[in-house]
Order: sequence, then structure tokens, then C-alpha cells
Amino acid sequence: MAIDLISRKAWGARSPRGSYTRLGSTKGVKVHYTGGRVDPRIVDDHDRCTELVRSIQNSHMNGNGWIDIGYSFVACPHRKVFEGRGLHNLPAANGPGLNSGHYAVLGLVGNSGLTEPPDTMLHAILDAIEYTRQNGRAGKEIKGHRDGYPTDCPGGPLYAWVRKGAPRPGGGQDPAPTPPGAAPPFPGRLLKYPPIMRGDDVRQWQARIADRGFEIDVDGAYGPQSSDVCRAFQRQQDIDVDGIVGPITWRLTWEAPES
Ligand SMILES: [Zn+2]
Ligand SMILES: [Zn+2]
Repeated sequence: MAIDLISRKAWGARSPRGSYTRLGSTKGVKVHYTGGRVDPRIVDDHDRCTELVRSIQNSHMNGNGWIDIGYSFVACPHRKVFEGRGLHNLPAANGPGLNSGHYAVLGLVGNSGLTEPPDTMLHAILDAIEYTRQNGRAGKEIKGHRDGYPTDCPGGPLYAWVRKGAPRPGGGQDPAPTPPGAAPPFPGRLLKYPPIMRGDDVRQWQARIADRGFEIDVDGAYGPQSSDVCRAFQRQQDIDVDGIVGPITWRLTWEAPES
């Protein structure tokens, strides 16, 4: 099952107060919990998940003085994944000196109220982890916040699951993940300019083409710069040069041998 990703725009995220530090690749992911009380009623009402994520962002920005929510992604009990800082941006939640090593994924459980992650949340955490591996150059490690940092995070139940190797609930019923190096599914629309096109698919393509060494802003907006980079890549690959990311350009962006 593909990740059910909620974009920052869709959950009403505030804009970051500064620019992120770019993260090229990581050893993997660290799993977190909120450390506070999580209202068990979120399980029956996804709107409450959204409110909770917004309040976490507010406390990280207003309370901790961070430029944004500290997590890369947040997994909820509805098998949905909120985009936090997202791919290729340094998180803040792992602790000083520990953020460049791992993306930070929060499961919406706490130390009281909702403390046991439902299977759907474990799936969502794994969906986020696979997403970072496929699109964000994350390595294979799955650790808890407490690995290397003095905290009880991610709490007993989540940490026990991490220590077991973070298995998919119900066994391997999910289709095999995309093999390493293979392109993620084509987004189903052509990425082109003008007018400027926005979306997570744009950001995903920009992040990958940036990994190939092209100078590009990974901002989720397909404008003149993206179009120029696309043309340069198409010339390099000796395919039709039209500045439009269609299925062939998309696939080659991941799968063409790196020069
Ligand atoms: Zn934590
Ligand atoms: Zn939810």
C-alpha cells in the first residue's frame, strides 16, 4: 500500500521560520512518541489527529524556539502520515548532534491516555520509513529516540516493537516495497511549466534530481528553474527535450545510471 501522505498545506502547517539545513542521506530513522498525554479519542476522530499535530508544531516553534515542528513525519492511527520537515531536511527531535544521522518519525502515542500504538499506526510509521528509504536516501536503521539520548521516548510499547525489528503487523501481507534504485510510481500528471505547479510529486522529483547533482530548489514548486533542470537532464539522457516530467523522464530520474 502506498503511503497516505498529508501535505503540510493539507494539515494547515505554519511556514518554517527559517531555512532548513539540507540532509543528503541518513543511516535510517528514529521513532518517537509525544512524551505527554494523548487523548484516546483521536482513534475515532482524525480531525483530532490534525489538531494534535498543529499543537505539537506550535509548541516546538513557540516553546522550543525551533524553526518548525521537530519531526520529519508524524504517523496517526488512521494509517496516515503527516509531512513534518519532510525529506532531505534536518529534523530537530533526535537531540543535539543526533539529527543528521536519522530522520525523526513520531507515532501519536504518549505516556498516558493512548499509550499502545494500534496496528494501523505501526503500518503508518513503516509507510513513512519506506518513504524515506525510497525517496530520501535513508538507510536501513530503525532506532528509538532513547538509543543514544537520555529519554524514555518512544515509550515502552513502541520501543519494544522497534527492538523486535519493527515488523509489519499481521506479517508480510503488504506487497514488496519498491526495490532500491527503482522509481516510485509515476504521479499520474505531467509536471510542467507554465503555470507553476505545486505538490509533493514535484518536491519528490526535485529532491531526486538534486541528488543527481543538479542545482535546484527543493520547494515543491515546478517553475522556470525546474523546467530548465528538466531540459538539462533530458539532454544528458538523450531523450526528447521538452522540460516536462512525464513517465519516461520520471523513471530515468531514479533509474538512469549516475554519471
Ligand atoms: Zn522523542
Ligand atoms: Zn488520524
